[in-house]
Amino acid sequence: MKRRISVLTTNPTLGILTYSLPEEEAVSLGHIVRIPLGPRQILGMVWEDRALNQNEIADNRLRPVSKIYNFPAASSSYRKLIRWVSSYYMAPLGAVLRMGLPLSPAAIETKQTKNYYVLKQISPKLTPLRQKALEKLADEKGSVSRLAEKADVSAAVIRSLIKLGYLAESKSDSGIELPLPDPDFDPPILSKQQSHAAELLKTSIKKATFKTFLLDGVTGSGKTEVYFEAIAQALRERKQSLILLPEIALTEPFLNRFQARFGCEPVVWHSDLSQARRRKNWQAILTEEAKVVIGARSALFLPFKSMGLIIVDEAHETSFKQEDGVCYQARDVAVMRAKFDNITVILASATPALESVMQVRLGHYQEIRLPERHGSAGLPTIHAINMAEYPLPKGRWLAPPLIKALTEAIERHEQGLLFLNRRGYAPLTLCRNCGHRIQCPHCTAWMVEHRHQGQMICHHCGFTMPVPDKCPECQKTDSLVACGPGVERIAEEATLLFPDARIETITSDTLATPKQAAEFIEKMDQGAIDIIIGTQLITKGYHFPRLTVVGVVDADIALQGGDLRASEHSFQQIAQVAGRAGRSKLDGHVFIQTYEPDMPVIQALVSGDREQFYQTELEIREITEAPPFGRYVALVISSEKQEIVEALGHKLGQIKPEVEGVEIFGPAPAPLLQLRGRYRYRFLIQAKRTAPVQKVIQKWLASLSIPPSIRITVDVDPYSFF
Ligand SMILES: [Zn+2]
Ligand SMILES: [Zn+2]
Repeated sequence: MKRRISVLTTNPTLGILTYSLPEEEAVSLGHIVRIPLGPRQILGMVWEDRALNQNEIADNRLRPVSKIYNFPAASSSYRKLIRWVSSYYMAPLGAVLRMGLPLSPAAIETKQTKNYYVLKQISPKLTPLRQKALEKLADEKGSVSRLAEKADVSAAVIRSLIKLGYLAESKSDSGIELPLPDPDFDPPILSKQQSHAAELLKTSIKKATFKTFLLDGVTGSGKTEVYFEAIAQALRERKQSLILLPEIALTEPFLNRFQARFGCEPVVWHSDLSQARRRKNWQAILTEEAKVVIGARSALFLPFKSMGLIIVDEAHETSFKQEDGVCYQARDVAVMRAKFDNITVILASATPALESVMQVRLGHYQEIRLPERHGSAGLPTIHAINMAEYPLPKGRWLAPPLIKALTEAIERHEQGLLFLNRRGYAPLTLCRNCGHRIQCPHCTAWMVEHRHQGQMICHHCGFTMPVPDKCPECQKTDSLVACGPGVERIAEEATLLFPDARIETITSDTLATPKQAAEFIEKMDQGAIDIIIGTQLITKGYHFPRLTVVGVVDADIALQGGDLRASEHSFQQIAQVAGRAGRSKLDGHVFIQTYEPDMPVIQALVSGDREQFYQTELEIREITEAPPFGRYVALVISSEKQEIVEALGHKLGQIKPEVEGVEIFGPAPAPLLQLRGRYRYRFLIQAKRTAPVQKVIQKWLASLSIPPSIRITVDVDPYSFF
């Protein structure tokens, strides 16, 4: 029998396949290989688990592995992580591996041209022609033919210089050199509370054992400086660090801070990299050349060679939850990866997720508090404005106390921020004549008017159409009215109220690239903006010393969803946006506009009594056995035909498993019944934390043959209930 190996492919439906291995080749588990699949070549990883029919395949039907790459093999802890994510989140192994491995061999293979550079000084022993060539090549690097062209000599001359040792092959294959961060480049002077926190983290990294820290510091307390010291320690231990950030487009200020501390930029990992840069960075992560990586959540699945530290910054952010493909929560996966790698993980936040607070109470995470702002800044004063006391004219949304505060701030040459988490002009367009609401043809959702673009956009599927000039239903002209405000409408009102103010609207429509973010920050720093109107994009990370007044236009929006985390999320969001105010010597004031000033979440924000709010929330969750006390799994079945999905939902409902500690609700039409043209039905599974809920669901789904036109999405620990 031929030598055979199991390879986990990046193809989710195929999973583990068996290949033969030539006698002379040596390979270990975790090696990355190129394998034939039909007429194509794909990537895979040598895997310990075997394909089901491994030994039944005859030798002559086995295809050989095409190539074994000489990258370091991925560790057993990495393979453990892939297996854990696959079984916990109920996703195929190949789909999980695919998040860490590029799809095509071309994405990791460097072209075979060798690059050379000048190694030795010019020697008088050389012929004048060769001396002259070396002179011209002093700062050049490139292939033989490129250098020949540059030096204006034949390729033979270049080859002779290589042979004589004057030109050497460049170690960096792609020509991109990665700088090395220096842990002692420019260490900051830390406050007493910061030093104490940094020491705890450094000690843990030196010990090199698994430990989770919740770095819980108020906005502006200098959490970043503290975890930079942890990174410095990991660098001294010659280990790699990974920092996960929620909004990758907004990393420009972060990169600058990193550079100021460590003397160079870190290696970045996100979807906008050029292919050459992506290939280089990916290889550098595998070979340990990349010492510090910052990335979006998917960077967590890269096969780091010697991970020493993981940091999840703004760890409460919902963007760490992936909602399609493999539905995972990066904050939780980060902790699991740290556990398998036996390293330190830091969750940093000013408003931790209840799940993290709970883990601290259970003694699983160590909490480090930074209760004071750094330097002379105090925390902003928070005021609730009861909107019932200020009846506003139609089409107006800003109450007099907020207008007054903004007016005074502008007079003092300070800056204001109006926060409304709604892009566009108005969330709903309605016909005054017949009551028709303009809806997306593919989703159970209203079309949102974006007046600047002259378009109506569906925020769920991206469908766009021009703003109609008459009602599509009753054909009456001039009957359509915008209902409710979006940021564009607030900007319109602000322009009326403050005609001389310089107003800038910041949403994902206007601030899409790092370059735009950098320009915006510069304008703020120069005082070229008086009022920002922004969505949640503006709530985190920014530090504007002259920003003193923050207005939360509608604090009730986030509470209306009524889902499990509605209160928690509105608390986090408002606390984050409030944290933009008064970050320097000037006092900050935050005005929360609400019709429900007595709601616990508003009360907690005004009084600053976060502990009471968290306590009440945890009690409610405990009584209802909701997360983090119990576990939820959402099961969404969808099809382009409503009858088909309804029938399958009914069938699944009839054969619901009955298992102790697992309760299954549904099927029910999803609140967002139609999404991107597919009809959706939902089940919600509620389970005790000890119940084997994944196994129960797997068995349940396997007991029925599912038509190929039906898509099933399993979301363990879901955030979305639509
Ligand atoms: Zn109409
Ligand atoms: Zn849509």
